[in-house]
Amino acid sequence: MISGKNIHKAYGTVQVLKGVDIDINKGEVVSIVGPSGSGKSTLLHILGTLDKPDTGSVLMNNIPVSTLSGKQLAAFRNKNIGFVFQFHHLLPEFSALENVCIPAWLGGRRRKEVTREARDLLAILGVDHRLENKPNELSGGEQQRVAVARALINQPEIIFADEPTGNLDTTNARELHRLFFDLRDRFQQTFLIVTHNEELATLSDRTLHMKDGLIV
Ligand code: ATP
Ligand code: MG
Repeated sequence: MISGKNIHKAYGTVQVLKGVDIDINKGEVVSIVGPSGSGKSTLLHILGTLDKPDTGSVLMNNIPVSTLSGKQLAAFRNKNIGFVFQFHHLLPEFSALENVCIPAWLGGRRRKEVTREARDLLAILGVDHRLENKPNELSGGEQQRVAVARALINQPEIIFADEPTGNLDTTNARELHRLFFDLRDRFQQTFLIVTHNEELATLSDRTLHMKDGLIV
């Protein structure tokens, strides 16, 4: 489903990725672990089409996404990929519900239908009592769940998550992990998660270890 081949990436004179090969199957929950600075986020950004490799290719469902650009790329991303980051970048001036709906509205989907789906997602995530609140009125865990709902609203085939539980306590982290596996079981979604959380790494279908720009 995702296949990265011989991915190289340098920032200036620093070679960050040194020929990464990676294959992720549909419906897999894969975690990436490794020391700070080993290139995990860089790899996630490249696989997630937010950044381009210097050399090497990324295929998603056999589409060479690393060669797409402009509107084509934006459309592909909006339809197929969801992102969850440690700092979740919710839009402060919009409500929880609106934050979840916005990516779908931007994609031109019907307002009513999207709003209903967003409510359902937020209910599954246990934050449906906070629909009208702004992000700064929510706890860190609640904000994180809203960000997850937003990542899922377009039912992307794949979700990239960079330290999604980084600012959650153990209980909330555990619940978020459970949710990921639950979604995988229900909808066959694929998760690639960068994490320092050993529990998640142990639970994952597969754990990839990154070191010094390579998967070892
Ligand atoms: P952490 O666990 O701390 O998040 P990481 O494994 O995610 O680390 P990356 O963010 O991928 O590491 O960074 C890998 C290396 O590339 C680091 O040395 C970092 O300083 C460098 N780097 C990342 N992004 C840039 C950039 N935009 N410009 C220059 N250097 C960068
Ligand atoms: Mg990182």
